[in-house]
Amino acid sequence: MGKFRVVIVGGGPIRLTAAHALPVARVDFLVLERRPNIVEDQGARTTLVVYPHTFRVMHQFVILEPLLSIGSKLDHHLSFTADGHVFKEGSRYTRVHQNNGYGATAFHRAKLIEILYNGLPAAAKRGVLTGKSLVDITTQETGVEVNCADGSVYWGSIVIGADEPFMATCQLLFGAFPTPSEPDLGYDTQAKDKSIMYLSGPNRSWFFLYKRLPKPISERAKYTDEDAQALAREFAEYPLTAAVEVEDLWPTMLGAGMTNLQEGIAQHWSLGRIVIVGDGCYKFTAHLGLGFNNGVQDIVVLCNGLRKAVRAALDENPDPAVLKTWLVIPKFVEDTVARYISPELCKGQVLDYVRTEEVMEGEMRVHPMSALAAT
Ligand SMILES: Cc1cc2nc3c(=O)[nH]c(=O)nc-3n(C[C@H](O)[C@H](O)[C@H](O)COP(=O)(O)OP(=O)(O)OC[C@H]3O[C@@H](n4cnc5c(N)ncnc54)[C@H](O)[C@@H]3O)c2cc1C
Repeated sequence: MGKFRVVIVGGGPIRLTAAHALPVARVDFLVLERRPNIVEDQGARTTLVVYPHTFRVMHQFVILEPLLSIGSKLDHHLSFTADGHVFKEGSRYTRVHQNNGYGATAFHRAKLIEILYNGLPAAAKRGVLTGKSLVDITTQETGVEVNCADGSVYWGSIVIGADEPFMATCQLLFGAFPTPSEPDLGYDTQAKDKSIMYLSGPNRSWFFLYKRLPKPISERAKYTDEDAQALAREFAEYPLTAAVEVEDLWPTMLGAGMTNLQEGIAQHWSLGRIVIVGDGCYKFTAHLGLGFNNGVQDIVVLCNGLRKAVRAALDENPDPAVLKTWLVIPKFVEDTVARYISPELCKGQVLDYVRTEEVMEGEMRVHPMSALAAT
């Protein structure tokens, strides 16, 4: 039996968060990603909206400054009907800023992943392996054997596993394009069985076109360019802003993707030496902007617990029965209204083994960083 080691399947943004947190806890890890590169242009198609409780964790990894320098802090919200009538001007973004010390911020997803990856210390980067597609996991008494498609086998004490399928009730066409409006807007358009989210940055902006499926399905759908174009035509005259409709920017798209939006919560979040986090345990529709943010919380809570257990176990290999109880995340309500979100963001955990000063000072109290015991 070797040192305690966590094998992480997949090199997405939540799992890269684990690649930051585990070495600081002096826990050995390996990331196995099936793609040839961690940072890929695929992500150019979409955005990740990040909330301040996640920024507090990024600050613990010393990557907050470069992150914030490329983010677009959302500060204006309007809701449109499909024929362009404004029925609401909301204050959700400014409220979150006041309460939690920083506003919801939209990122070019590929750039965020690049900063997460490039911000890893050199030794941690060596633990991130690409071209490694997991095909099988064998659990043994003292650890797990992880088999990849290329024939390689890795040993770990536990595995942070991959996603499982959930039901989808909506399809989503998402894409990026050069900004056709003011930056920092977070607008929505609402109609029966269809809606739009529009987020603008200084140079690049994003839309999300949602359409209810005729019936819920669990199969993964593979949509073609023709499917995407047909759906975009259905939204052609829907407004993104008072002056811009979907058809105005469709010819300028930098990239687009189409998928079914799965939603649900897995019944079991661990089995013996295998645990799941983030999208593996639960999936939200994209408009909530919670998948990555909540996944970071899973990693923080998991790593805080892992570190304690590894240190407490004399041989640094805790019994998996102890590991079972840790995947408890704060409860997030699916309501984007700021008065509900801010108190939830305040519950956001940070790594209790990293000492650093607070950077997100808002009107609401959070778990104070300075009071954390660095034992
Ligand atoms: C359109 C869209 C918009 C979103 N917007 C937001 C947002 O604004 N804010 C937010 O918080 N969340 C958002 N989310 C959710 C967010 O993207 C996910 O929660 C997050 O990407 C999950 O990160 P992850 O690390 O689990 O890996 P993922 O991003 O899910 O990637 C999984 C990785 O695992 C790899 N992999 C899969 N199978 C294997 C295997 N067998 N072997 C090895 N590697 C494997 C894949 O290649 C991939 O790199 C959005 C999701 C979508 C679809």
